[in-house]
Amino acid sequence: MVRLKSLFLTFGDRRLEAAFQRYYYGISLARIRFTLLLGMVLYSAFGVLDVLIVPEIRRFAWSIRYLGVCPLLGLLYLLSYHKRYFRIKRLAHILGCLASGAGIVAMISRLPMPGNLIYFIGLLLCVMIFFSFVPDFIAANVAAWAVFLLYQLVLLNGSDLAGAMVFNNTFVLLTFNFCGMFICYSLERQIRAEFLQRRTIERQARELSRALVAVDKARQEAEESALTDSLTGLANRRHFLIMTRQELDRKQRHLRDLALILLDIDHFKEINDAYRHLVGDQALRQTAVAIQALVRSADTACRYGGDEFAVLLPETNAAMAEEVGWRLVRAMAKMALTTDVGPVAISISVGIAVLTPAEVVDVETFLDRADVALYAAKQEGRNRVKVWSADLGDLGPAGSNPFNHYLLKD
Ligand code: GH3
Ligand code: MG
Repeated sequence: MVRLKSLFLTFGDRRLEAAFQRYYYGISLARIRFTLLLGMVLYSAFGVLDVLIVPEIRRFAWSIRYLGVCPLLGLLYLLSYHKRYFRIKRLAHILGCLASGAGIVAMISRLPMPGNLIYFIGLLLCVMIFFSFVPDFIAANVAAWAVFLLYQLVLLNGSDLAGAMVFNNTFVLLTFNFCGMFICYSLERQIRAEFLQRRTIERQARELSRALVAVDKARQEAEESALTDSLTGLANRRHFLIMTRQELDRKQRHLRDLALILLDIDHFKEINDAYRHLVGDQALRQTAVAIQALVRSADTACRYGGDEFAVLLPETNAAMAEEVGWRLVRAMAKMALTTDVGPVAISISVGIAVLTPAEVVDVETFLDRADVALYAAKQEGRNRVKVWSADLGDLGPAGSNPFNHYLLKD
């Protein structure tokens, strides 16, 4: 936690000090306005005393009260609603306090005993208000000590106070000023310490929320990478199996067709062998981009493993799926993949399994059928499409079909 080390009521850092000034102003604006109103009310109300106690200076006192100090305090009160009041606040504080204090000193200067003493009490009240209500240590001190000096001038210029009373009043006013200084200092110091604590807490809260956002992002990325193939950016097999299960459920609920395309690059090993593995990777990436571009956005394409890709086509019957299969075969055959070693031509074989609305099978059977069809396409010479039908049979015992090595049962 940051601590206030200096005895002075200012932060070394200018930006911090400016931020504190704004904060302090914000929390004390209501108090500033209240003090100005209080000053006006007291100044006006004590006008009654002028009539009762010292009618001989009533005109003089009233002109100070009602033509000088009250209008000034009222003006400052109105100005406090201006958005730029913040900039002149210290000047305004000093002006308001000084006018109030100097007004009383001016009345005292014209008063004989005992009015002199009664109005001195008013001066003490005034100084007390400076220190306890004005939210600015410097402004309160400037005003209080200026008023002290003015009062000393009045005493020096021949008041009719006895020597002991001069000493007494000076001592009392000094004591008021020092006590007020102490109270005002402690208050502002405490507010500064609270401000620092608040900033520390706010900074920690900001850091915490940034950390939470980062954790959330990392979690999201981890979730995405768990479902995405890192080489091609397509869904991975795990994601694809989840989607296939969901689509099978949906198909059964809504009685729709569902097609599955399994495609495998022909003689891909030769590309890897002839060039390098990295060139093979480039070919796989471009194949993925091409597949994605050739299917609908509602279809889910994935890299099933190695050079094998799968596409799930909701609401697609056998004829439509076969058409998509041929579109893929023809497009890939026509396309030359751009690699580091120049254009590389490839072809693909496609196996398709389609479920009619009435047909209900599990994920494994669905995938097995597409795999059997793909095997048949390879057997018939590659670069072609084969749609599964009952006469193609089942996959048979594991390992009997060279294309079943990617099929997972999870
Ligand atoms: P076929 O026409 O029978 O499919 O012949 P093929 O050579 O394509 O044989 P197969 O599909 O069984 O071979 C897949 C090859 O893909 C084997 C492996 O070297 C290669 N392969 C698998 N994963 C990657 C990969 O991430 N990057 C690269 N460059 N090659 C891969
Ligand atoms: Mg292959």
